[in-house]
Amino acid sequence: MQVISTVIIALFVFSVILVPTVSAASTYMVDVITAYDEEFRSVAQNFYWYSPSTLIQILFNSGTSHFWDEFQISFQIVNYLFWDSNDAVTDYRGMLDEVISELGFTYNQRRILVAFTDQLSGAWGASDSLIGAVLVKHAYPDGVGQATDNIIQHEISHLYRAEHHWVDGLMCVMNVYPYWIDFPYYYHVPTALVTNYWCTDCINIISSNRNLWGYTITSGGVGGGGGGQNHPRGG
Ligand SMILES: [Zn+2]
Ligand SMILES: [Zn+2]
Repeated sequence: MQVISTVIIALFVFSVILVPTVSAASTYMVDVITAYDEEFRSVAQNFYWYSPSTLIQILFNSGTSHFWDEFQISFQIVNYLFWDSNDAVTDYRGMLDEVISELGFTYNQRRILVAFTDQLSGAWGASDSLIGAVLVKHAYPDGVGQATDNIIQHEISHLYRAEHHWVDGLMCVMNVYPYWIDFPYYYHVPTALVTNYWCTDCINIISSNRNLWGYTITSGGVGGGGGGQNHPRGG
């Protein structure tokens, strides 16, 4: 028992060291239910040779680490659910409504739903900021590089009431102004897909709405918080 308690204490001390220099009381923890459809599962397995949950972890840690760095909001995945998306649904808002109803997801301040799909094209995601659910399109093979984490960051920002900009050259993940992607793609994507920054306005909005989701951690720390690496993005 002595050994076990020593290990526990050591782990505790280590986890406290990992927490950034914010007081524990100002840290928000948000539970996250994730869901993936058959198209996302197929891409995970056949394109990357990952299980769907492993691919979700990679994308999610990358997309949410910025919330930890900027706002001390930590998102922790509590579930990976399968969702059979209807191929006849042809718009992202319809798909989001479908997954909400198929899973029976309802509003609860403590948690949000993040659903992944690889169905459809022409849009990147959707959000329902009242119920706390977002839909994220897997965007790796669509000719925009590794952009799925941007979509996660963008859609979750909507849950904190951040809204779109239409401003040429503003490097904010909420800016949907077209951005020209050069070699090897040669087409426009929303600026949101090429940056992980928020502009000052968005930082202020999200900061003032931090209490919309999750719960505060009042003791014990969060063991490294959002974790994940900050993936620098090119172009
Ligand atoms: Zn948006
Ligand atoms: Zn912004």
